[in-house]
Amino acid sequence: MGGSEQNKITNDTDVSLDASVTVLAGVGPKRAEQLAGLGIVTVEDLLLHLPRGYEDRRNFATMGTVEVGAEVCIRGEVVSSRNQRMRGRQNMAVLKVRDETGEMTVTFFGRGFMAKTVFAPGKTGVFFGKVEKYQGMALKNPEYEMLAGDAEDALHVGRIVPIYGLTEGVSQRFLRKLIMDALDRVTGVVGEVVPESLRTRVGWSNRDGAMRMVHYPETLEEAQGARAQFAYEELLLLQLGILIQRQVEASRGAGIVHMVNGPLLVGLHGQLPFSLTEGQERVISTVLADMASAGSMIRLVQGDVGCGKTVVALHAIAAALDGGYQVAMMVPTEILAEQHGVNLAGYLAPLGVEVAVLTSRRGDAKGVRTGLASGTVRVVVGTQALIQAGTVFGNLGLVVVDEQHRFGVEQRAKLVSKGHYPDVLQMTATPIPRTLAITVYGGMDVSVVRGMPPGRLPVKTRQIPEGKLDDLYVYLREQVDAGQQVYMVCPVIEMNEESVLRSVEEHFEELSTGALHGVSTALLHGRMEPEDKAAVMSAFKAGDVAVLFSTTVIEVGVDVPAATIMVIENADQFGLTQLHQLRGRVGRGGEQAYCFLLGQARTDEGQARLDTLCTHTDGFRIAEEDLLQRGPGEFYGAKQAGLSDLRVADLIRDAAVLEEARRDAGLILSADPGLKAKHHRGLRGRMVGMGRVRH
Ligand code: ADP
Ligand code: MG
Repeated sequence: MGGSEQNKITNDTDVSLDASVTVLAGVGPKRAEQLAGLGIVTVEDLLLHLPRGYEDRRNFATMGTVEVGAEVCIRGEVVSSRNQRMRGRQNMAVLKVRDETGEMTVTFFGRGFMAKTVFAPGKTGVFFGKVEKYQGMALKNPEYEMLAGDAEDALHVGRIVPIYGLTEGVSQRFLRKLIMDALDRVTGVVGEVVPESLRTRVGWSNRDGAMRMVHYPETLEEAQGARAQFAYEELLLLQLGILIQRQVEASRGAGIVHMVNGPLLVGLHGQLPFSLTEGQERVISTVLADMASAGSMIRLVQGDVGCGKTVVALHAIAAALDGGYQVAMMVPTEILAEQHGVNLAGYLAPLGVEVAVLTSRRGDAKGVRTGLASGTVRVVVGTQALIQAGTVFGNLGLVVVDEQHRFGVEQRAKLVSKGHYPDVLQMTATPIPRTLAITVYGGMDVSVVRGMPPGRLPVKTRQIPEGKLDDLYVYLREQVDAGQQVYMVCPVIEMNEESVLRSVEEHFEELSTGALHGVSTALLHGRMEPEDKAAVMSAFKAGDVAVLFSTTVIEVGVDVPAATIMVIENADQFGLTQLHQLRGRVGRGGEQAYCFLLGQARTDEGQARLDTLCTHTDGFRIAEEDLLQRGPGEFYGAKQAGLSDLRVADLIRDAAVLEEARRDAGLILSADPGLKAKHHRGLRGRMVGMGRVRH
């Protein structure tokens, strides 16, 4: 960055927190786009991009005296550097660095290509890591920073230095400077959010000071304190938002009092082909109690893949029908709509109730819509076609949302608004850790279906290395000959130029004519015509297709109990929850099922996911691992709850803070429901910004 820009910064006037980052010097459209990749759009976003760690660069260790095992920060000149080749296609950069007291080795795995550029001899750098023994004393893959030798270096050494999470094209140096500039320019306009009484309780400073401290602290304790302050602030806002929404929902009027001992419900119960599990019984009676009461039901039923949630919904559906109400069940895919249509009809048709299916691409959509408006269609299962303007209900009394994590808040709200305060039952197979549940589902009642139908065996899961693929195909042939059915899942449907992922179509061609020649195979993906999809699924269900090649369209909900083998190509490309869902397509009958994860993991995280899946089958455990590995921002359902906006708080580390924030939010709202008090002005402003409170 040139000197002219430096001048520009100091001459610029204050900026407001909600200004775009492009008001900062050095941020043009390209930079703005890169920053957006970190979730940074406004100046406040930037300032709340808190360091993921700090390095104490006030004192440097002397290379002549470092000891093995110590965490040190050294500063020295590169005296030599080379690209060392290793086994396979790996390489590393090996540097010798020197200060006045001695020399050390510094290695960077996989960075051999930087040996003659970034790490070229003559450059000076700061290296931070744990001392090991390797060609003398060494640091392996340390955090590092090469110094430019200009005045700006003062930002990067001689103090406690922030280490930020980065993205492609955005360096530590750039972010540090940008954040420092932003700090200077927002002085005096930061504005308080957390009321003073709550701040003084724990001895927190004003927001302005805390922002400075969290980025450029004098001590590490100071940094911790400031971070805690922002985590609390963030969670307090989140909880306030949830509680306010809940208030709004609670005040929205009386719900329907459903009949829960009518003939359909009794008839349904009498014709179930299995006895309900205890877990199912319990949740069904809770749901029916909700429905019988005068308030509106807003309940989420959560239960691991395959635990049998559909039959729970079926009971609610029968109850609503008994009272003469219409029922709409919304599902995320056409395939699932067709499947549930057939499934529900299997139970309801014998009792005299037809089940309609509504998807935009089905030929009979118009007729179904007419029937829904007039009331002749009493039960409909559909995709998002249900929420289109053209879909009108005569008397909608129950909304069921299956795989609710696939839908956004607005989509659900739209469907609900098609009735007059219908009861709402949502279902998800994504178990969610308790800390997240209070947050994500803070506005709903939650029930968990515990346990599985009897006789289920845990799916055996193995990772198959590239070299063993031929063996796998031989094994699959044997299994197919023995009458087993197989899903083969690939991540993408068309070859993307940059992508090395095999497309499902190509894969299908290759295997059907090659290793699986003569086996009855079929192809399924989202872009097929609905009729073709339905035909393929029913052939698979009937056992006429032995190996089904598919994209992730079968990820959720699909239920073919006879299928026992799941093969997942490029398994490391999937998230943990998604892998668990996919695996949940098998192991739904009494037979031992298997899941094979193919391909080499490209990253450590990818491998960690595969390892987790091989060792765990319990969805709750996997969800917790997922949360640990990915953080809550990426979590299913997190987006809709505003959780992806969490920048500071960590729902695992800050679980106690979350509880505290929830309590405080409750107290604040009971004292001042509209946040009208002067000392709640900051909170109110934020709630308006989040759309929770009107001006
Ligand atoms: P999910 O909870 O994943 O939606 P489903 O509702 O699709 O699960 O049920 C999975 C399979 O288990 C279905 O084939 C269903 O018929 C069967 N099932 C459900 N409840 C029971 C039960 N109590 N006993 C035996 N099988 C059951
Ligand atoms: Mg289901």
